[in-house]
Amino acid sequence: MDPALLGTLTLGNEIDATALDTPERILEYFRSRNFIGNGCTSIEGAIQENPELELAYEDLGDADAYIMKISDNRFRIAVNSRHHKNRQRFSMAHEYAHYQLHRSQIGSKPEGERILYRNGERNQIEYQANKVAGEILMPEREFIFCISNSAGDVRAIANFFAVSPEAVRVRASQLGWNIL
Ligand SMILES: [Zn+2]
Repeated sequence: MDPALLGTLTLGNEIDATALDTPERILEYFRSRNFIGNGCTSIEGAIQENPELELAYEDLGDADAYIMKISDNRFRIAVNSRHHKNRQRFSMAHEYAHYQLHRSQIGSKPEGERILYRNGERNQIEYQANKVAGEILMPEREFIFCISNSAGDVRAIANFFAVSPEAVRVRASQLGWNIL
């Protein structure tokens, strides 16, 4: 057998938390570590457990969050301490997506960014980070189950996933559902 392939298979039980470059791999890892318990994703837990990441709550003024490189293989994710917990969770997931997918482009200065609800986002990187954030916080399987069980009640779905109603609407439209 190809030694490289053997390495991959051996790692099967132990997924490398620092190298998850697709939403599918991120979700596989989250499930393996029980970060998706009962539907609601513990993005906080996934960040805090990652040896390369640290999580901070700071007053960021108008900005939602930032991710910055502290040193080789070390990054800080900060979210706005004044924002609602659910909004902070989306911001964390967005920055976490940058860490997994756009790591080489993360700078060493804290550049706060505005994140939420940009479904019409044209910047490819930001669009992708938002999309992945939605996929992490509202995994398709759980999301469809929840829509069916709540008769499309956006507030109930948002409460279930601890996200904003707007994030639910965006996720629903991505999956081809039209809900109010
Ligand atoms: Zn971003």
